[in-house]
Amino acid sequence: MKMTKSRGVYKCHNCSGAISKGDLYRKKTVSIGSPHKPDRAIKTEGGGVAYEMQGIRFAVKLCALCAAE
Ligand SMILES: [Zn+2]
Repeated sequence: MKMTKSRGVYKCHNCSGAISKGDLYRKKTVSIGSPHKPDRAIKTEGGGVAYEMQGIRFAVKLCALCAAE
């Protein structure tokens, strides 16, 4: 498991605990919805086309305790 040394003060995504400067934390990518699916095309009333995102992916930080679980 790859841990990163904190260069600042962050908040753990899992337990909301503080990650202090110099502590080890783990980077994790979280997905909401289905980011792997292509955006869905929707016809708008004016005859145009809009795209609906199927999901997003973003990076969070986990403290050493949560990363060990
Ligand atoms: Zn935590």
